Amino acid sequence: MEERFEYYMPTRIVSGSGCVQKNASLFRVYGERALIVTGKSSAKNGALSDVEGVLRGNGQSYRVYDRIPNNPTVESVTEGARIARECGADFVVAIGGGSPMDAAKAIAMLARQDAKEGLFAHAIGEDVLPMLHIPTTAGTGSEVTQYAIITNDEKQTKTSIAAKSLFPQVAFLDGEYMKELPQDIAVNTALDAMSHAIEGMLSVRAGVFTDALARESLRLLLGERKALSEGTYTAESRQNLLHGSTLAGMVIANTGTTAVHGMGYSLTYFHQVPHGRANGLLLPAFLRICAKQIPQRIEEIYAAIGMGEEAFSAFVDALLGRRETYQDSLLRAYAEKASLNKNIKNCMVYFSEEDLYAVLKASLSK
Ligand code: NAP
Ligand code: FE
Repeated sequence: MEERFEYYMPTRIVSGSGCVQKNASLFRVYGERALIVTGKSSAKNGALSDVEGVLRGNGQSYRVYDRIPNNPTVESVTEGARIARECGADFVVAIGGGSPMDAAKAIAMLARQDAKEGLFAHAIGEDVLPMLHIPTTAGTGSEVTQYAIITNDEKQTKTSIAAKSLFPQVAFLDGEYMKELPQDIAVNTALDAMSHAIEGMLSVRAGVFTDALARESLRLLLGERKALSEGTYTAESRQNLLHGSTLAGMVIANTGTTAVHGMGYSLTYFHQVPHGRANGLLLPAFLRICAKQIPQRIEEIYAAIGMGEEAFSAFVDALLGRRETYQDSLLRAYAEKASLNKNIKNCMVYFSEEDLYAVLKASLSK
């Protein structure tokens, strides 16, 4: 591992049941008008009404923009930014899974920067509306990262825009909002979080701090393997999964992700495979290839997981159920696409296009 590294985490984190209402003062400092960016589920799980109650109590006005689709599009963030400008928003509150949380970052930026050259070509400046993020899935860690992953139709993939100014100011972690989370989404998002912690440990930018966070993340996430397998969650298990996911977010904010995410984007873009599921499908085969080159590091990862290779593979398989399968020509094309992704260079193990194809084939061949 590199001796020299940097660790940066500017986001304030508050956690626990009722933390939004108990910390109303954290909303007050960001101005008079808020734009709430969310999807449809926050109106049902209590998160939206908690935020509205806090803003009203603070004497702040707000507008709700709840048309963020899964895998946010350039159109949706452009419209959100137009509304933010129209209502004179001073700050943004994001509520939801990674889709609304990522969209909110692009909206907070586009509300202040023209990005005439296009969202993906734009050099993101400092001037971004302050953001408060409330995750309602335990997966992406977007509440503590500087990344917003937006669908890129021109390149037929998902592209990450990143800048230090995209870190949210505050993250509120309340697992109660996940009470009615459907089991498939709970599983997919947990796989995403595990993938972040594991890929973070395999990043060329890993260091002792990110390793410490990744190990604790895996301890918490895998500590809930029974809950994940059976689909029965307590308040404590939800909070553990959420903490595990946020810790993994703190890891990738500093390490980035690697080939698993790089390959997964094609499955999501072309076949609508949910993001976390895409990672879960590829993770065991990816680890097997890494093990050939850096066996000791992979052993450290399985020690952090608390299971051996076979047991972990079987656990992931059981969570995934029946795997998707694709024709060989498609897998070849996705390997080529993934080889162009910048996060390939981020891995301790070099994955050639042939290696990427081997992972895709082992995971998804017909
Ligand atoms: P998501 O796309 O945000 O949400 C998946 C589904 O879950 C949606 O239908 C959503 O409904 C619903 N949902 C969310 N919270 C719920 C709750 N508490 N109860 C019931 N339903 C709920 O999924 P995600 O896996 O959290 O996020 C995936 C996105 O994040 C992808 O675009 C991925 O690329 C990105 N990502 C970002 C980072 C990062 O560092 N920024 C890292 C990894 C992944 P509504 O949306 O309608 O509410
Ligand atoms: Fe992810």
